[in-house]
Amino acid sequence: MFELERERLVNNLIREGYVKTDEVKKAFLKVPRELFVPDSFKMRAYVDTPLEIGKGQTISAPHMVAIMCEALDVKKDQKILEIGAGSGYHAAIVAYLVGEKGHVYTIERIEKLANRAQENLKQANIKNVNVEIGDGSEGFEKYEPYDRIYVTCASPGVPEPLLNQLKDSGKLLIPVGKMFCNLKLIEKKGKDILSKDLGGCVFVPLVGRHGY
Ligand code: SAM
Repeated sequence: MFELERERLVNNLIREGYVKTDEVKKAFLKVPRELFVPDSFKMRAYVDTPLEIGKGQTISAPHMVAIMCEALDVKKDQKILEIGAGSGYHAAIVAYLVGEKGHVYTIERIEKLANRAQENLKQANIKNVNVEIGDGSEGFEKYEPYDRIYVTCASPGVPEPLLNQLKDSGKLLIPVGKMFCNLKLIEKKGKDILSKDLGGCVFVPLVGRHGY
């Protein structure tokens, strides 16, 4: 029903330079964002803006999801950890990027949102994502180490457990700041930690032991 709107949004994301690769383009075309927003917002599902999903939280704007997917350089078959499942939409896009043999583990601290994200992913027929309830500022030890970790909320710093749960040569993407943040891309190379600032962004806070 929303195919044309989805295509138009993706074309805009390409024209504005947020979507750069064919892989990210294809993933955006596959995931029906309308399934991840509340009924009252369905008609706005393809406007490039964050939308409320309840409990004071938001589904990120598509351009932010695109920026993060391109920066994270996700490859097929990888194991990914997301902190902040929210609606499940960003995890669904990454699930397409890793393919059927890859896997996404996403942590959400608000049980109601976690359950809804699980339901949304089921509706979208996405099978390679696990939604877990908990404090993602501690990471998720059960399936470590991860090829990629990304955080979709504003963190006061880089939580040590996330660095520890990252593979050697793995990448971590995290907004650091309070609401107005710097998106940091961190690469682990042996004992070295390389960090690059990718620019400004706005996120709801990471609430937890290593958060606010
Ligand atoms: N990725 C989401 C999507 O596609 O809809 C958007 C995430 S929203 C901007 C941030 C989410 O992080 C909220 O749902 C919030 O409850 C969650 N969050 C905040 N602190 C957290 C923590 N310590 N552990 C897990 N989730 C957390």
